[in-house]
Amino acid sequence: MKISIIGTGYVGLATGISLANNMNHIICVGRNREKIKKINNGNLPFFEPGLDKLLQKVLKKKTFTVSSNLQNSILQTDITFIAVGTPTINNHIDLSEIKNAACEIGKALKRKKSYHVIVVKSTVVPTTTESVIKPIIEKYSGKKADEFGLCMNPEFLREGNAIEDAINPDRIVIGQIDDKSGKYLARAFKNFSCPIIFTNLRTAEMIKYTSNSLFATIISFSNEISRICEKIGEIDVVDVWKTVHLDKRLSPGLSHYLFSGCGYGGSCFPKDTKALLSFAKKLGLKAEIIKSVVKVNTTQPERLLHLLKKRIAHLKNKKIAILGLSFKPDTDDLRESPALTIIKLLMKEKAQIICHDPMVYKNSQRLELNNFRIRLATTVEEAVKGADAVLLLTAWNEYKSLKPIFFKKKMKKPLIIDGRRIYSKELFINSGVEYLGIGYTS
Ligand code: NAD
Repeated sequence: MKISIIGTGYVGLATGISLANNMNHIICVGRNREKIKKINNGNLPFFEPGLDKLLQKVLKKKTFTVSSNLQNSILQTDITFIAVGTPTINNHIDLSEIKNAACEIGKALKRKKSYHVIVVKSTVVPTTTESVIKPIIEKYSGKKADEFGLCMNPEFLREGNAIEDAINPDRIVIGQIDDKSGKYLARAFKNFSCPIIFTNLRTAEMIKYTSNSLFATIISFSNEISRICEKIGEIDVVDVWKTVHLDKRLSPGLSHYLFSGCGYGGSCFPKDTKALLSFAKKLGLKAEIIKSVVKVNTTQPERLLHLLKKRIAHLKNKKIAILGLSFKPDTDDLRESPALTIIKLLMKEKAQIICHDPMVYKNSQRLELNNFRIRLATTVEEAVKGADAVLLLTAWNEYKSLKPIFFKKKMKKPLIIDGRRIYSKELFINSGVEYLGIGYTS
């Protein structure tokens, strides 16, 4: 099928490239000409394992291209996905990008004679597709909803695992305004073997929030347990989890999320839990669980500072090395990364901060880092050398292989605070390196 996708961010490109690899013809629509040129030359604007190779393959097959011409892209295709950003600003979902996209789509549909299906892929709170997007498209196209198709197709792919998730999804959800729309969209997914769930628009929207809020809840619950363990003392939360995970009802599925760390981040869980919370409030509900999930996550980075200050009470001018900036391994995404919150807390204490991340390079212009008083190191050695403490904040594989002797040789009085519990505490016994971690205070 011929498909246009509005948005060349993470979801737009990951979805577009995967669908182009699956017998569809894709035009992604972007706004930044420089970025468009780079993508059309085979260079992704972000890091995602394996996606660059797939991009080069679909460019060669000529099943994928990026354009800046939104109107023409819609006129040349049968289906348009909306994959623009829906950030949460002041705790409320911001629909400005999606409203703007709906308006442009409406104008293009006015010029189009043949049937066209609009698919909302961006995450939007329940009823948005019906009550916000549909009226805008109707207004600008001069057509009624049965003259064009409308679907809501939530995206479940995970950064760092996008290709596997896109090629081999657990399920495809098609929220449809009518049967014709859903059937038409399903043709784009005809080569997938997973179940396709047809439902109404608002159920599809709710499925996405329920899924993200569930995982966020499990993470915050795990972090609450770690706080209790720290307070009791002589308990390592990792020992607790290892045994809890043996329960067949949990493993292997949920156990990945049932683990303590410095909190969830990224472009989805933080914004979607907050958006759902304010949406529930509008409905007159308190949503106490989601409220607590958000609160635990907001305060979890403070736990790292708390552990650090147990050993170094005054951090002024102390050299603190941060290992890992991205919100999780295998991505260079810094959006809402707990590392950034922890750095802000260290800045307040006037610590000297040196950071390393395998994917955030020394000379990179990262807007997210503009207001941070930090130095970026090129190598782990450079970051750790002479540090008073190391805070491990992202579970990159590269860090997992570091041995206590490495820290002992490079640091003044070696102290490791493991925010992701990637090291076994036993390794550090009698090693000359002090080891503390989330849920373990020695
Ligand atoms: P993003 O901010 O990285 O990308 C959105 C892109 O859309 C930006 O590049 C922006 O410039 C572009 N855009 C906005 N309006 C446009 C227009 N009129 N024409 C052309 N381009 C336009 O966001 P993302 O991470 O790709 O997420 C997109 C949506 O998918 C969000 O609603 C998000 O919640 C949801 N989602 C994200 C993920 C993820 O892992 N990132 C996973 C599932 C769902």
